[in-house]
Amino acid sequence: MSNPEIKTRVLIVEDEKDIRRFVRMALEDAGYDIMEADNVRRALIEAASRQPDLVILDLGLPDSDGLNFLRDFRNWSAGPVVVLSARSMETDKVEALDAGADDYLVKPFGVNELLARVRAQLRRGVQPSTLIGNYLQFGEITLDLGRRVVERKGEPLHLTPIEYRILAFLAAQPDRVITYRQLLKCVWGLTHGEDIHYVRVHMANLRKKIEERPSQPRHLITEIGIGYRFVY
Ligand code: CA
Repeated sequence: MSNPEIKTRVLIVEDEKDIRRFVRMALEDAGYDIMEADNVRRALIEAASRQPDLVILDLGLPDSDGLNFLRDFRNWSAGPVVVLSARSMETDKVEALDAGADDYLVKPFGVNELLARVRAQLRRGVQPSTLIGNYLQFGEITLDLGRRVVERKGEPLHLTPIEYRILAFLAAQPDRVITYRQLLKCVWGLTHGEDIHYVRVHMANLRKKIEERPSQPRHLITEIGIGYRFVY
């Protein structure tokens, strides 16, 4: 709060007044500058005119689907978007992530969870410590993106080309939820998402090579029914 002129700006798009107020108060207490919209039309105006650093987006809005905001927004902004969704709306969540959302919160959520997700997404844009030149580093693992080599404590790890592509794709987007469909598209070039067992098999093998305890992964985290999230 010592530098009010450089506050991080968050746009809250939510038509339920109580949730909007709850999110606003939590984020204002944490020092963020808040703008609000209760429908898609207003949200697009706010986003375009005031350039928020992050958007919190409800999907069920009175004038249109929140996905329509997201698709429009993604045409001109790569800024982080955290979707708010009801527990029962699994397919909506996946659809929103496929359309370019970065993370989601399931209602009801607590203040700490909200702040943690917001911080993680804002950090993503910065990433000073993880990408050094062409290297990504996490735990004891170094990923050399130039030479396409992965090492643990200087010793080479033998990944298959598919495993390397999965790891590089996820590690380049830490804290972001990546859907099975996005992985299939980027790693295999497949445009339909039925073959998630492929992904699971390769992920299991990759974890055995990367994770200290593959059954309790620290970096390659499963998002049940959705995909994966890489955590440094
Ligand atoms: Ca709603």
